[in-house]
Amino acid sequence: MSKNNKNRFDDINCIFCGRSPKDNKNLPFIASGFEGFGICGDCLEMAHEQFSDKKSTPNSQKNKDLKNLIDSLTVPNPAEMKKELDKFVIGQEHAKKVLAVAVHNHYKRLQATLGSRKVENYDDIDLDKSNVLMLGPTGSGKTLLAKTLAKYLDVPFCICDATTLTEAGYVGEDVENIILRLVQAADYNIEKAQIGIIYVDEIDKIARKTANVSITRDVSGEGVQQALLKILEGTVANVPPKGGRKHPEQEFLHVDTNNILFICGGAFVGLDKIIQRRCNKQQLGFGNDEEAKKKAKEDNDILKNPLAYCEPEDLMQFGLIPEFAGRLPMITNLNQLGKADLIKILTEPQNALIKQYKKLLAMEGIELEFTDAALDALAEKAYKKGTGARGLRALLENLMLDVMYTAPSQKNCRKCIITDDVVNKKAKVIIEK
Ligand code: ADP
Repeated sequence: MSKNNKNRFDDINCIFCGRSPKDNKNLPFIASGFEGFGICGDCLEMAHEQFSDKKSTPNSQKNKDLKNLIDSLTVPNPAEMKKELDKFVIGQEHAKKVLAVAVHNHYKRLQATLGSRKVENYDDIDLDKSNVLMLGPTGSGKTLLAKTLAKYLDVPFCICDATTLTEAGYVGEDVENIILRLVQAADYNIEKAQIGIIYVDEIDKIARKTANVSITRDVSGEGVQQALLKILEGTVANVPPKGGRKHPEQEFLHVDTNNILFICGGAFVGLDKIIQRRCNKQQLGFGNDEEAKKKAKEDNDILKNPLAYCEPEDLMQFGLIPEFAGRLPMITNLNQLGKADLIKILTEPQNALIKQYKKLLAMEGIELEFTDAALDALAEKAYKKGTGARGLRALLENLMLDVMYTAPSQKNCRKCIITDDVVNKKAKVIIEK
């Protein structure tokens, strides 16, 4: 290299930047074995930096970071997790239990395999990852459950929508973008992201479009399932750091998805019929009276809550490919929320909507009261909309708009009372001074 020998390099150029030591006497230079070619010190340094950048955190260091991260996680027991969920989510007892157990086991598995919580005599037993599938109508609390647990555990969490995804190369989002969301939620800390939770909503929308083999490619259905399958199973995904489509010259973030917990949710409209049909078929021809009674009771239960009897074969019939259904071994269902649940949602959870409005008005020195009849009328209206608890927010916002606009500017306003007539637009809000 070198400045000392530079006279020998006068007629050569750097094969990367094209500069010659002839024009820049201080440029360190290495000649190659081929006449006229060499590489300058700047380019060499740049190459070294780039090369070492990838290895700047050696694998052993990364593993150590991951181990520390996992060891530092406090994994509450399932009962504690359910208790936390109870604070924010009304009803859905079964889903809460399933989720609490799945999440607890998932992080225990990480502590046993990657952390330092080794279990004597069971070293050679591998624990499988259990991603979760939640079936339930819109606005029943699927997203809320997943979000609440992730917050409680203090792990990165993101929500994504399966409907926007398409198979690589087609218009729409690549599946890797969902990993990017998690990386972003972890502030680009890859190790942290690798132990996060992803909630994939509307998973039923990527069901295979037809049961028969299609002539055209099903790029938003089966194609996406295939692509998601790899990520769900566990792979090192190449994630474009700025999102968008992948292209060959791009640098990627390498994210191992083996330890990411996937919770998928969807309304699965029509699945209930599939389950009922299968159950009916199985019930043809039973023996004695006792058995007949038992079957009749089961029949009744299935009719009332068919999704609770979902088996992987029903999901396949619905349009999930077998491998994909197999990757979601924990299945749970959420019930349609009734009127009584909706009233509770308005008032009971820690951040209940009415509590929020009460706080806002309390900041103005005003007390807010909803009569029982008003709560009932609100729940009735939301129930009729059929969008679960989702409808409550819109209804309440509409209702409270006038109050929030006028009350703070009213002199000496002490209390606002909302009755059922106010909800039904038959009367004005009662304002006490
Ligand atoms: P889903 O994912 O099932 O469509 P979400 O979890 O997004 O529904 O619910 C929408 C909103 O409705 C939530 O932000 C929450 O405020 C409320 N909500 C839904 N279900 C419940 C529930 N069981 N308990 C309390 N709030 C709920």
